[in-house]
Amino acid sequence: MAAKLPLIQRLCMIGVGLIGGSLARALREAGEVGEVIGCGRGEVNLQTAVRLGVIDHYDLDPARAVAGADVVVIAVPLGAIEAVLRSIVPHLAADAVVTDVGSAKSSVVADVARVYGQIPPNFVPGHPIAGTENSGVEASFATLFQRRRVILTPLAETAAAAHGLIKQMWELTGAEVVDMGVHHHDAVLAATSHLPHLLAYTLVDTLARLDDRAEIFRYAAGGFRDFTRIASSDPTMWRDICVANREQLLDMIALFNADLAQLAEAIRHDDRAAILATFQQAKRARDNLYLE
Ligand code: NAP
Repeated sequence: MAAKLPLIQRLCMIGVGLIGGSLARALREAGEVGEVIGCGRGEVNLQTAVRLGVIDHYDLDPARAVAGADVVVIAVPLGAIEAVLRSIVPHLAADAVVTDVGSAKSSVVADVARVYGQIPPNFVPGHPIAGTENSGVEASFATLFQRRRVILTPLAETAAAAHGLIKQMWELTGAEVVDMGVHHHDAVLAATSHLPHLLAYTLVDTLARLDDRAEIFRYAAGGFRDFTRIASSDPTMWRDICVANREQLLDMIALFNADLAQLAEAIRHDDRAAILATFQQAKRARDNLYLE
């Protein structure tokens, strides 16, 4: 009896970092990928990826890297996606399915429309809601997506077969896959991920510029460490996310600024009831309502 073929025969991973590397590892562990070709800007990370067994080989030329691939995953910072698309689209196999992992989706869809001249049926925008503050292939691990969510934002033009293949690919990593509209995705992620990262970066930056910062950081306790862990994330990636999701993020910043100003007023006027009400509402939400 012929051996069962893996879901993906030839996977091209453009950007073999935390997310791309973890996806390749998970698919390998599941035995559902035949061959993995990596692509990136520099050889050092890709050589490490080969040594760690994350990819079989690599090609620095994106046009050659995608040749014959049935699935291409773009896992680079958002600001690099349009250039990557321009370099690969003329060289894709006719039936290749392309997906991305970018943290904002409207900008990716706009990049796709610009490069292809239309929304192609075989591009499936995606975003795994999983990560750490570390970058590069050495930070990748096969279980990153287990019991986490992956959001796909298929468009009216997206072919059902392409959507189904990428859904199946993510399910093999142990993730739960959900579909969402592009705009809704960006609004939700601005609130739950992009604003918190911005707050963590700003808080650390503000404190780091104080004259007595050494003294302040010396006494930083667990709460400060928990709250600011994400400020160790890659600055380029987060710069790109802010630019890509500008409007949604500005709305959230305005809302947060207004609430923070209101809390400051309550503190200024010794309005203990208002302060307590804010904290009680937040504690209730944190403990019970919205977080699993
Ligand atoms: P990462 O660990 O820094 O990996 C990105 C990889 O892309 C690097 O290996 C880099 O390799 C390559 N790269 C960077 N710029 C490139 C370019 N211009 N052309 C080709 N390759 C390039 O980052 P990551 O955390 O995996 O993030 C990748 C994507 O996943 C981003 O779009 C991000 O928004 C999204 N995402 C991240 C998280 C998270 O928590 N980290 C979660 C969900 C989604 P070279 O330096 O060798 O080129």
